[in-house]
Amino acid sequence: MSACARKKRYRSRKQAAGAACRIMNRPGKPPKLYTYKCEECGKWHLTKRPPEESR
Ligand SMILES: [Zn+2]
Repeated sequence: MSACARKKRYRSRKQAAGAACRIMNRPGKPPKLYTYKCEECGKWHLTKRPPEESR
């Protein structure tokens, strides 16, 4: 049930965090985003779900 293939990939946590930051700075009501390292592709993705809840 991984959404890996559809998700945007980032090479590093820093890149993912930067992208999350830009999204969260959008006007309106942007989602709170978290970064996580994907075990399938080894890259970083963004998720709306806090890491603790994803276990
Ligand atoms: Zn992935």
